[in-house]
Parts: sequence; structure tokens; C-alpha cells
Amino acid sequence: MTRVTTETRTTYRTCPLCEAVCGLEITLDADNRVTSVRGDREDPFSRGFICPKGASLGALDADPDRLTEPIIRDRATDTWRQATWDEAFDLIAERAPAILGDHGRQAAALYLGNPNAHTVAGALYVPALIRALSTRNLYSASTADQMPKQVSSGLMFGDPLTVPVPDLDRTDYLLMLGANPLESNGSLCTAPDYPGRLKALRKRGGRLVVVDPRRTRTADLADEHLFIRPGSDAYLLFGIVHTLFAENLTDIRIEVAGLEQIRSAATPFTPEAVQARTGIPADTVGRLARELAAAPTAAVYARIGTCTAEFGTLTQWLVDVINVLTGNLDRPGGAMFATAAALGIVRTRPFRLGRWTSRVRELPEAMGEFPVATLADEILTPGDGQVRMLVTVAGNPVLSAPAGARLGEALAGLDFMVSVDRYLNETTRHADVILPPPRTLQAPHYDFALLQFAVHNYARYSPPLVALPDDRPSEPEILARLALSLAGQQPEPGRDCVAAVDELIIAGTLHKAGLTERRAELIGADSTEQRIDMMLRLGPYGEWNPDRRPVDIAPEGLNLRVLLDNPHGVDLGALQPRLPGVLRTDSQKVELAPQPLLDDTTRLVAELSAARPDVVLIGRRQLRSNNSWMHNVPALVGGSNTCTLHIHPDDVARLGLGELAAIESATGKLTVPVEPNDRIMPGVVSLPHGWGHSGSTQTVAREHAGVNANALTDDSRIDAVSGNAVFNGVPVTITPV
Ligand code: SF4
Repeated sequence: MTRVTTETRTTYRTCPLCEAVCGLEITLDADNRVTSVRGDREDPFSRGFICPKGASLGALDADPDRLTEPIIRDRATDTWRQATWDEAFDLIAERAPAILGDHGRQAAALYLGNPNAHTVAGALYVPALIRALSTRNLYSASTADQMPKQVSSGLMFGDPLTVPVPDLDRTDYLLMLGANPLESNGSLCTAPDYPGRLKALRKRGGRLVVVDPRRTRTADLADEHLFIRPGSDAYLLFGIVHTLFAENLTDIRIEVAGLEQIRSAATPFTPEAVQARTGIPADTVGRLARELAAAPTAAVYARIGTCTAEFGTLTQWLVDVINVLTGNLDRPGGAMFATAAALGIVRTRPFRLGRWTSRVRELPEAMGEFPVATLADEILTPGDGQVRMLVTVAGNPVLSAPAGARLGEALAGLDFMVSVDRYLNETTRHADVILPPPRTLQAPHYDFALLQFAVHNYARYSPPLVALPDDRPSEPEILARLALSLAGQQPEPGRDCVAAVDELIIAGTLHKAGLTERRAELIGADSTEQRIDMMLRLGPYGEWNPDRRPVDIAPEGLNLRVLLDNPHGVDLGALQPRLPGVLRTDSQKVELAPQPLLDDTTRLVAELSAARPDVVLIGRRQLRSNNSWMHNVPALVGGSNTCTLHIHPDDVARLGLGELAAIESATGKLTVPVEPNDRIMPGVVSLPHGWGHSGSTQTVAREHAGVNANALTDDSRIDAVSGNAVFNGVPVTITPV
């Protein structure tokens, strides 16, 4: 529903900026400029919540530094010129096939940034680009973020997208590790107003325990905060598993495989044995186990601080092992699986890890991707299959991937690079062509990925708020034309190539469902909407699903019309038990002891008594930052949003530091402003993620450049199972400047 006056119109859509999927109320003037953004109080999921980033959507939308037309770089002079869309695609059609013809398909690589998880184009049209490139050199922000959770879910449940989330609104006890939702707004746990949900947990008598090397804002809300040495979460969790077995506290309510193996694997990790490594007293470890077992319902949840660490996948596995052992997996108030409304990827075979390996370091693929930590190796190392051409979509890995400076040097040596991006930044500055997507408000919005991790079942579709001019390609059109140009074709401008992709998918899906004759019933303003309509109709609540879950406001089942008629979103009810239906394991049971995880446990045992560095670096999230790309909004770079080194006052005194310090790792050295802070453990220092705006044309971001923490991280250190980058627990030395 849109309220219109002669001067303004107020309309509604989902915030596309982070995983919380808040509903927004957006007012636009007669020229389609955003004049106000507020939380949508009628959204049944977010209930009016909004954060400073969402409130800045108008400023982001109007950013004068955002690219609006394609630009092409002259390599000889390293200067850019504006180009027409035809010119840009013609150049790609001329250069890319020649490189692929000379060097083979593996000479191309694709990198996908985090915003692809938040756009319809990323969900529906990037797969066509992947197919067009047909390369194994596929990389994304996932291996600098959540891949450990997806791998552990794949191994335990048979599907890497079957990820349990804490049933936040009903749990009695939440143990949270390495997560700071008061700053991040939640991740792999879609929960608008996470702060309000945590306060409600405590108000109803529940208990919140936060484990983190920093006393974060989330820790301030908790009943208890425990400092833990960075990278040692797997030891703490194994200590809890050990206690659950040793004290006969297990209460398993689902079918599992591997119980004896996990019991045996936990044997060495007594609370006493893990105490020195974690810094958490043995009696506290035992008490946590007893509290989890005794709580009427409980959930363990661990996020980015534990994923981006050396034993990331083991940590994520043990989270769900504890959820199983305490009887809390798949029960209300425990850790549960959402039921997203749109038909997702239908996996028929169990997840497999390491079906092929990377050329240089022989690292296993996970979900078809290689670790971003080895992208520079693949570009810089000569030989058959060397990467010579790169396509990036909405990503800035020079800032967000480990050893960013090395990756920047690698990109500078590519034969050809294309970026689909709204900014000329530290990564895209190495491209030959940049193709900018249109304004966010000119795109439709549906959260295909994030609603699979929601703490309450919900659906919302937002059509474009502002019409796209006829001669301006949409992001789907850019991706579809790019896919064809990479194959040497020169497609006509317009929606035809998008419609062709959609028609292929619709025809194939309906054929599989035996519903080919119902094609004409799909509604929508274009083929994208028709595809979304089909996914809703075939989904778990859908009109064409004979076993659908009931939806009060749509007794005939869900389809796009229902969502268009309910612009504030549709409440699809609390999470419900889904086992064993969601399992795709060979055993059709929850696998408690997958072999790759048992194998890595041997390494964990060996490291139990390893020497500890004097000082280690960790990252930190900031409420007003969104990875690397929102520092160009003036309202978001003030106040506490600064790029400083947090360090305990005792360490400041011990190391004799003044206002500035030099911080050095095995891979780089930075000079940073020192911010003494007693909320961080002694022996641990923290730099925020996503800063270091040196090669960007973003005016505000350059004025608030900060430093790139990934100058210090090491791309040779990864989580061995998933290949995820290690950003936490990096050994550093610090000296006065
Ligand atoms: S919490 Fe996330 S989704 Fe909600 S308003 Fe902020 S940026 Fe947008």
C-alpha cells in the first residue's frame, strides 16, 4: 500500500542492508528522492525496529559518488572514462572469449561479495553467470565469514543450507559465543530487533550468557559475560560436551548416528584440560554444561568471531552437538530450522566436501567454492589453469579478504577484470570495466537466503519503489548480458535476455513438478516476478503444494498476489519441528561424528598445550559499518565509528604506548591510533573490519580512511575443514610510535 500526497508518497519495503530484514517506511518526494526512512510498525516481524544504517538508506541511495553509468579503464594511463552500455559489453565480448580460448575455462574466476545475499539479482541471476563461466575458480565472501557453519550443517544434516537458529523468542537459556548482535544486528539468525528479543528473553526469566574476548554491548545485556582467549571456543565447547557425558546429563530426543564416537572424541577435553587454553575456569565450564542441561529449553549459538578462527568448523559442529545432547535441537525454545516460503534449492543428495581441490594449495572445495584465502595464489602462480581473468559482483575483497595487500597486487597483474559494482573502490580500481547496478529502490526485494535462517517464519515481497528508465539496464539484465558477453555474444539491450533465463527456469521447474500446463497462471509485472510467484506457489505454504502448511490469511495457499496485497509482510507462525524431514544425510539421522571433523579433532588435541603468543589481534563489528561499503555516508562515520586499536590499559602501560602504535604481524605492519579500553582482555587487541579506504573514489570514505586490518591477516592460515579465512587470534607485536 502506498500513501500519496501531491508532494510525497510513503511506501514500504524490506531493508536490504543486513540480515535482520527490517520493514521500512520510506517517503519519497515528487522527484523520487528519499525524504525519510522509518521502521515499519506494521511489519509483523520487525515491528518498527530500525537501526542507523537502515535510517541512512536515503543518503546511501543519493550518494553522489555512486556510479551511474559504466566506466572503462585505460590501462596505459590508469584513467577512467564513461562508456555506453553497448561499449562496455562489446569490450567484454571482445576480450573475455579470447582469454578463455587461449587458456581454458579455469583461467576465469568469479568473486561474489556479501550484498549478493541481499538482492533478488544475486539469488536468481548470479547462477546463470556461474554457469556461463563454467570455472571451478569460484570464490565468495562466504569463506571470509560463515562457511564453517554451512560445512558443519552439511556434514551433520546433509544440507549446508539446513542451519539451525536459536528459537530466540521462546528459549529459556541462550549461550552465545563470538556474536555481537547489538552491533551486527544478527547473522545466520535473521531476527529484526535482536536487542529487543534478548531483553524479552531476560524479562521472561530466561538467562543469557555471552562468551567473547571483548565485553561487547551484547555482553552488557547478558546475565553473565565470560572472557575467552581468541580461537579457543572449540575447547570450551568440548569441555561442555565432556561434562555432559561424564555427568550423565545427556537427553537425546532425536535419531542420531555417531554417539559413541563423539563421546570418545570428547575424552581428552576435561574442564581442567581446557582451562588454560580458554582462560575459563574449569568449574565454570562444568557449570555451563549443567545449566544447559537443566534449563527447560536452551540453545547454543556461535557466530562470526568463532567462524573466522582456526577451528571454525569444529566450533560450529560442537554448538549443534551440544544442542542435540541437551535435547534442544528441533524443539521449541531450542535450536530450530526455519521454513522459508519460497521453494529453495531442492537437494536430493547428501552434502559432500572436497569434491575437487584448488590448483596451487590443493585446498578442498566447499559448496562449489574455493577459499578466498587462496585467490591470490591462483592468480600469482604460473602454470596450467592460472587465473588470468576475474569477474567480481558487489565485492571488495582487497579490504575484506585476508592479506588484502597481496590480493591487490595479484589483481593488478590480471589480463582482464570486470566488476559489477556501484563504486570504484580498492578492488574494482583494478577492473577494466565497471558495470554499476541501478539504485536499490529501483530493484524488487525478496530475501531468498536470509528467511531460511529466520527465528520466526515470515515472508515479504517489495516491488521496485522507483521505476527504471527504459534505457537503463536492471541488475538482472546486467548479469544476463554479462553472461552472454563472456561467451562472446552481443545480446540486444532490454529484458529479453532476462526473460530467456527466467523462462528456462520456470519451464524446467514446472516440468519437474508436473505442472507445465499451469504456466499461464503465474502473475507478475515481469518474468522475475513470475518466477517468484512460482517459487511461492511451490513452496511449503504454496497454493500448488498439496501438503502445504496452513496460512491464516491465505487459506488457498501462498502466492505472489498474497504478498503484494500484504506489503508489510506475512506472519507464517513460530518455528516448528522439522526433523527428520529436512535431513539429507546418507543415514537419515543427525550425524554427530562426521569423519572430517573427527580428523580435525586430532589437531585440536595436539594444540591443547601449544605455546600462546603474547598478543593476538581480533576483529570487531560496528553498528554504523556494513563490512567495507557504507563508510561514504556522512551520518555513519561519526561518533564511535572509528578505526582505532582497542587495547587493555594494562597492555598500554606494559608496552609503553602513546597515542599511536605500530602493529606488526607475519604479513604486514600498520600504524594505528591507540584507544585504551578495559572491555577487552589483556593480551588481545582489536581492529574493526572493512576500513582502509585508500584506492576508492568515495569522498567521505577517503576522509575517514582508517587502516585495513587485513594488511595484518595471513592468507596461509585457514580453518582446515572449511577453508575459511582466519581473522581472529592473529599473532602480532605492538610497539610505540
Ligand atoms: S538492522 Fe539491518 S535490516 Fe534492520 S534497519 Fe538496520 S541495516 Fe536495515
